[in-house]
Amino acid sequence: MSERFRSWGGATARNTVAIGPDEFPTGGTALPFGNGCSYGDSCLHSNGAMIESRRADRILSFDRETGILRCEAGALLSDVIAHAAPTGWFPPVLPGTQFVTVGGAIANDIHGKNHHRRGTFGCHVEEIVLKRSDRGRLVCSRSENVDLFAATISGMGLTGLIEKVTLRLMPAVFSDIVETTTRFHRLEDYFDCAEEADAQHEYAVAWIDSLATGRHFGRGHLICGDHANVGSKSGKSRPPITSVPFTPPISPLMGPALKAFNETYYRKAKPGTTTRTVPFDGFFFPLDRVGRWNRLYGPRGLCQHQGVLPDNAGRDGVRALIECAHAHGQGSFLTVLKRFGAVESPGLTSFPRPGYTLTLDFPDRGEKTLKLLAELDRITIEAGGAVNPYKQHRMSPETFATSYPRFAELDALRDPAMMSDFWLRTVGGASNSTTTAEKRTAEHHAFTVPKVPSPAFAQSGRF
Ligand SMILES: Cc1cc2nc3c(=O)[nH]c(=O)nc-3n(C[C@H](O)[C@H](O)[C@H](O)COP(=O)(O)OP(=O)(O)OC[C@H]3O[C@@H](n4cnc5c(N)ncnc54)[C@H](O)[C@@H]3O)c2cc1C
Repeated sequence: MSERFRSWGGATARNTVAIGPDEFPTGGTALPFGNGCSYGDSCLHSNGAMIESRRADRILSFDRETGILRCEAGALLSDVIAHAAPTGWFPPVLPGTQFVTVGGAIANDIHGKNHHRRGTFGCHVEEIVLKRSDRGRLVCSRSENVDLFAATISGMGLTGLIEKVTLRLMPAVFSDIVETTTRFHRLEDYFDCAEEADAQHEYAVAWIDSLATGRHFGRGHLICGDHANVGSKSGKSRPPITSVPFTPPISPLMGPALKAFNETYYRKAKPGTTTRTVPFDGFFFPLDRVGRWNRLYGPRGLCQHQGVLPDNAGRDGVRALIECAHAHGQGSFLTVLKRFGAVESPGLTSFPRPGYTLTLDFPDRGEKTLKLLAELDRITIEAGGAVNPYKQHRMSPETFATSYPRFAELDALRDPAMMSDFWLRTVGGASNSTTTAEKRTAEHHAFTVPKVPSPAFAQSGRF
């Protein structure tokens, strides 16, 4: 059993063989693997092959006049920043770590702190070169192979291997960020100023002290940012301050220690509003400054729950989600609240949609945590929202189908040689039961039974 392919949350692919982007499965099934920064099992494929996309990671060309960058899909966003920032260009969408590949960013159609202005990563993809087991190499764009372009953006690796990508970067003369932090005392204060913050700033996100109760329920920091008008043009990050050397047997991110951390962090920001200029890595990727911080969640790893709630359900829904964690006696270490804007995602099954998105992190405590996550799903879905699939290793077929009503269209465009543990569990599992997923699938008449590796394949060890 190999633990080589492990997601950030600690899910592992079993009985898996690694192959390079030049090899392609001639039997059995496979899945592209980026840098494993997905939290759940959507980046994993047990009993098959994992295509190591990082083996092809070159920046192929960059036009300083237009900001058009061409690269191999295994390039990291840190490579793109290092290449482009000194010339006044920047990736228009960045997640909370720079160590994700361009291919992974497209396959999950990731979002950043500026969704209200720039939409998702996929909005800035001009062209994809896709390799499929059944159709060879295809150029996909808004004018060519349009259906595959949409399905590949947010397709979680299932439409084939993204080999090369053309991206349009955004102008940003300086990489430094002018950061404005406002300490707020209760959740309502955040909702009162979130829209205004989006209107005024390129970036906006809130950290919530999810353990605070009573009149301070939902207190936190609203952190806004804009590229500076003077300062550094560097695209190089500072090395991590420290690294977590081993996984402790019990996570310290629980109980009184967690409460004390939240209290200290809340008080770290001065009352009112403060402004300072910070290097881009401190603003976008504070977690990258501590190497392997996910080890702090203990041997079982961590479960992240991210839901998005429609605007009109935001206030009550976010409160209900945090209260639910309280009721289950499980505090979230890192709680982040953002507002998604109206820029439409080009992907068929993209997670972002207008509304408020809350992210909660919990050490995995087995059954207890599973129950909590199922409850968080229920609250989100009943409020008319959706749950993020790439932060999960336990989402039900029903939650997936309700969150992504067009999933059967993705399944119809799936490369027959591609499969993931997530897809098998949600869509694949539906073929044997009377779940919502199955009913929706039948409605679309597009379901193809996933090709699980045959026993012959498993024995031959072909990859
Ligand atoms: C600290 C941290 C902060 C994060 N913050 C955010 C955030 O703010 N917003 C957000 O949206 N996400 C966030 N994420 C999640 C992360 O950005 C996504 O999961 C991202 O897609 C991971 O990319 P990866 O290169 O690690 O790919 P993996 O996790 O390895 O794979 C992701 C998916 O991409 C597919 N894939 C990878 N390469 C290819 C390829 N060449 N061709 C086809 N498919 C491919 C895989 O099959 C898989 O389905 C965060 C993760 C971490 C660890």
